[in-house]
Amino acid sequence: MSQRSDLRNIAIVAHVDHGKTTLVDAMLKQAGAFREGSTVNNRVMDSMDLEREKGITILAKNTAVHYADPDDGSEMTINIIDTPGHADFGGEVERGLTMVDGVVLLVDASEGPLPQTRFVLRKALAAKLPIVLVINKVDRPDSRLKEVVDETYELFLDLDANEEQIDFPIIYACALDGIASLTEPENGQVPTDSDNLKPLFDTLIETIPAPEYTEGAPLQAHVTNLDASPFLGRLALCRIREGRIRKGQNVAWIQRDGTTQTVKISELLMTDGLERKSAEAASQGDIIAVAGIPEIMIGETLADPENPQALPLITVDQPAVSMT
Ligand code: GDP
Repeated sequence: MSQRSDLRNIAIVAHVDHGKTTLVDAMLKQAGAFREGSTVNNRVMDSMDLEREKGITILAKNTAVHYADPDDGSEMTINIIDTPGHADFGGEVERGLTMVDGVVLLVDASEGPLPQTRFVLRKALAAKLPIVLVINKVDRPDSRLKEVVDETYELFLDLDANEEQIDFPIIYACALDGIASLTEPENGQVPTDSDNLKPLFDTLIETIPAPEYTEGAPLQAHVTNLDASPFLGRLALCRIREGRIRKGQNVAWIQRDGTTQTVKISELLMTDGLERKSAEAASQGDIIAVAGIPEIMIGETLADPENPQALPLITVDQPAVSMT
């Protein structure tokens, strides 16, 4: 078994308004600029405005940040899965978390962790995912950095985090200015030892494990969400658990009741920034969207037709309160 050193799959967990969209915007913008070896410019922002005009919502299901380390040029794709910031009853949180290998917990420097974050964090901790804490909006004049960090430790203890999880790295950020630092600034001040998000990228890459890769393993891909395209019809969003998949390939579609059918992957898509683009092939660890199976459902498996093995269905907590 080896590792996909070029790939990280993460989720961002945040209370609404704590700055998730602003942070991902800044990551996209800087990753593009670092890649071109230029200073930060507005190129990515421009294409994002275009996306907005086309009505594609930012953070729809998956954003892919293509990052090149400005120091050594090493390239990395960071897939960012959006999880709802509230207790949903459809299991979207659980399903999102099965796609990732680690979580960014984004907390407002003044408000601290709020109840809505707790639900999702509890799931992430139970799934044994490593966490990176990002304290955002450190520039707020009413920021309370020490207290907010303490409140976050208390929350982790309360939610039975394991020792590794509670040893989380802390990043202090002003997402609005695209700045992150490992050093605690003064309350209300933007960090002065950094003028970009590189400390955040470095910490994510270091803390969140790369997906594993097993040479020659038969295909197993798990359908974790659905989407629709006006041209391609239903899209199944999957994380490839093992093996490889190619556009045009026949695969075994294993349905929830175990019925298995051979179907053709008519289109294979991978995310680039905020856009889905056609791809020829993808492999273990990748997050993909496939077209060609109009009746496919969440939880089902796409597998090697020679060796069709179903992945376990994703179990979802029942709502604690009735919805009447
Ligand atoms: P989301 O709901 O988590 O996606 O939050 P947004 O990214 O939409 O941000 C909510 C608000 O917080 C917006 O008005 C942002 O401009 C603001 N915001 C985001 N990051 C920062 C920051 O670092 N500092 C300050 N002062 N405001 C921020």
